[in-house]
Amino acid sequence: MEDTRRQILKSVFGFDSFRPGQEGIIDLLLEGRHVLAVMPTGSGKSLCFQIPALVFDGLTIVVSPLLALMRDQVVALRLAGVAAEAINSAQSRDANVETWRRVARRETRLLYLAPERLMTPRMLEALQKLGVKLIAIDEAHCISQWGPAFRPEYRGLARLREIFPDVPIAALTATADVVTRTDIVDQLFGGHAETLVLGFDRPNIRLAVSAKQDSKRQLLAFLKSQGGGSGIVYCLSRKRTEQTAEFLAANGIRALPYHAGMSREAREANQNRFMTEPDLVIAATIAFGMGIDKADVRFVFHMDLPSSLEAYYQEIGRAGRDGAPAEAHLLLGMADIRMRRLFIDEEKAGDDRKRREHQRLNALIGYCEAAGCRREILLSYFGESSRPCGNCDNCIKPVQLVEGTVLAQQILSAVKRTGERYGAAHIVDVLRGVSTERIVAARHDHVPTFGIGAERKKDEWHALIRQLIAGGWLEMDIGGFGGLSISGKGQALLRGAETFQYRPLEKLPRLRKAARDAEIGAVDDALLASLKSLRLKLAKERRLPAYLIFSDRTLLDMAARRPRNAEEFAGVSGVGAAKLHEFGDMFLAAIAAHSRVERV
Ligand code: ADP
Ligand code: MG
Ligand code: ZN
Repeated sequence: MEDTRRQILKSVFGFDSFRPGQEGIIDLLLEGRHVLAVMPTGSGKSLCFQIPALVFDGLTIVVSPLLALMRDQVVALRLAGVAAEAINSAQSRDANVETWRRVARRETRLLYLAPERLMTPRMLEALQKLGVKLIAIDEAHCISQWGPAFRPEYRGLARLREIFPDVPIAALTATADVVTRTDIVDQLFGGHAETLVLGFDRPNIRLAVSAKQDSKRQLLAFLKSQGGGSGIVYCLSRKRTEQTAEFLAANGIRALPYHAGMSREAREANQNRFMTEPDLVIAATIAFGMGIDKADVRFVFHMDLPSSLEAYYQEIGRAGRDGAPAEAHLLLGMADIRMRRLFIDEEKAGDDRKRREHQRLNALIGYCEAAGCRREILLSYFGESSRPCGNCDNCIKPVQLVEGTVLAQQILSAVKRTGERYGAAHIVDVLRGVSTERIVAARHDHVPTFGIGAERKKDEWHALIRQLIAGGWLEMDIGGFGGLSISGKGQALLRGAETFQYRPLEKLPRLRKAARDAEIGAVDDALLASLKSLRLKLAKERRLPAYLIFSDRTLLDMAARRPRNAEEFAGVSGVGAAKLHEFGDMFLAAIAAHSRVERV
């Protein structure tokens, strides 16, 4: 049996080895056990049920919440030569009837269904008669009310284990939250299932955070440093996605907006372009998310602060799913923190929930303000310990902390003398000696610290205040207008019983394309470009997303190996028998043509 699954891995999917966790899950399912697999986005959950589906002689049902997800997986499987089908509302009735005939003739190995369609009495009865070998529930967190993506239709799936008592069920999700996990196991398996939680590290994603100064200019600098590639720019509001897309377009970068306020057609059109065209940037709200299964997203840029570390992890997880180097860059601004706090407080939720949400947000802010390895912080939040990663901004360029006790005391004093109720903007005006109407009216131009820091820029003072908050020296009134007050720790600092160090504000970081290229290894850019354009041509002809033909990683491997014949071509990572047959000659010809040009 062991050989069978390895053989399928190679001959159907074209991979030489399993990724961490895959084998264990596959074996449990082959033994007929229920499994909950919690693995990060992009770690290869699909193979965990697709391979058992092919080992078993019979039908596997796959439940998936979104048409786009279903369509992508079915297309990918068919390109790999697997008899996969979907029955859903995107197809005509006739097409669905035709599909069902093939299923009934036992020609189909994997059948993709939305939960509500699976759980109709007619479908269940027909499937019981036909016999089902395996049920896979993708995006299983949709069953949990506590999770971020609850879908009432998923609730019905709880009956599956009674309807199909002998069929192993695989539940797959990337949601790390323990509450959600327990909920899934309770609902789907009555509390009993093998749970496998796998590494949350995505070492190929470089992590970076910088202080928000001029977000658009920072974004532009970042994109210039990237030198192309597809990416997502997350924005907090609908309007901001549109402004950002316009701004980028005006600066010569192909960009489209995406948010829930657009018409369905417009949204789908933009999503389709993102999936199929290379080097396209999408400026989106979080509405752009779960359905996006594009493997070669090269960067995720956050213009604004996400809601929690968990949300952040999910969002950056859309980058680099092919395993090739990718970047996640976040801008942190003080106003964003306050906005997020307000969102939580305005939610119609109990105090417990609000407190938990504030704590989740705190964890994210702590991550942003950290001077140490970001990956260590991220992973420790998900319960994994690790070592400095060498692939985050703080590892690459260690932060030099600067002595700042006196500056901190000036800030704390200004806060104290103005009555501990003004926000950061006002305190900064006091320190810089700006005689605003508010300051004059409140006679704050008479406090001792008025104008004491005129020579320092506004941004620098804001960065200091942010770090005083993050370090717990200052507290921000989260419900009101962001008024600052001094904590017990802050009092001690003011008295001189404590010292304070801070990380100075940096100039906009320039990145490092050279460093990225070095990681990929010596690949001939011209060859890679011609392989990509061939892929695009094939994708267009077939009206498919380009990465379904071959992933970026596969093209990189191809360009590095330069196969000269079918046998060598089969050795490229991601080339299985069906793709070798379908695309091998064309790519071999492109590589040969390139080599001829080189010799000329
Ligand atoms: P998930 O569902 O966990 O987010 P997917 O199943 O969509 O991830 O897989 C992400 C990518 O990883 C796909 O491009 C897939 O082909 C690739 N992949 C999966 N397993 C392997 C493997 N063993 N070796 C190489 N690539 C793999
Ligand atoms: Mg998946
Ligand atoms: Zn690091």
